[in-house]
Amino acid sequence: MLSKLKTALALIAAAAIAVPAGAQLKVVTSTTDLYDIAKAVGGKRITATHIGEGYQDPHFIEAKPSFVLQLRNADVWAFVGLDLEIGWMPLLLDGARNPKIKQGAPGYVDVSRAIPLLDVPSGNVDRSQGDVHPLGNPHYWLDPENGRRIARLFRDKFTQLDPDGAAIYSANEKNFEGRLNAAERTWTDELAKIKGQPVVAWHTSWRYFAEYTKMNIVGFMEPKPGVPPSPSHLAGLIQQMKRTGAKVIVMEPFYDQKTAAFVAARTGAKVLILPPSVGGVKGVGDYISVMDYDIKQLAAAL
Ligand SMILES: [Zn+2]
Repeated sequence: MLSKLKTALALIAAAAIAVPAGAQLKVVTSTTDLYDIAKAVGGKRITATHIGEGYQDPHFIEAKPSFVLQLRNADVWAFVGLDLEIGWMPLLLDGARNPKIKQGAPGYVDVSRAIPLLDVPSGNVDRSQGDVHPLGNPHYWLDPENGRRIARLFRDKFTQLDPDGAAIYSANEKNFEGRLNAAERTWTDELAKIKGQPVVAWHTSWRYFAEYTKMNIVGFMEPKPGVPPSPSHLAGLIQQMKRTGAKVIVMEPFYDQKTAAFVAARTGAKVLILPPSVGGVKGVGDYISVMDYDIKQLAAAL
């Protein structure tokens, strides 16, 4: 009797979080990269929107009222985590008053929980030093292995909320991994060229990309993540670049290209603008294309 009651209660709980049969899961993501992978896995069983654009600095997104409306109707809110969205997410979620996606609810998906992280500080973190990533490095999508982890997380989450779609989510996820694996096989020559090459990056956003490509980041334009370069930091960096023979400064379109050109002019290095996200430059319209574009551009610049 008791076990029957438990089963009944479990069914009621499952019904409460599952979407009605035939309805599409409404997914909202913070970034275009999460959006693209969610679409790849969810296919026609979901509708998806994203809050940030690929050409915007993901650390500084403006919280517009229209975003609150998107979140009010969402079944899933998926975000990068590690405080990347800390500047605007609490405000939007408060405004949305949607119990399905509040912290702790099944629709609240902190994607960073599925990722082995880089740059997690040990011991006390002193925020007064200005580090914008005190919980670890949130730019994890720039490693295809993490792209696969994100896809598997969406498969599991969508299946939990929409059990009738299990087979479709599973097939779509496998298809995504298949396409990613096929793309990776075409990068062999580029990756061989990049491996071990000394480069400078503007921000720590290229750390996961470096783990994958084995480019050797010998210095950052920023003295700490989120802190603009100072003259004394740049003087040291220029020495370091001359010592190591760094040929390229990798940076996103939204950072200060004049300062990068200043350093490039004193070291003979090239400034290479790479999109960190889907939609970061024209024609880079999906996750696999971002990886493909960045790897090919970097290999060509070395
Ligand atoms: Zn960052």
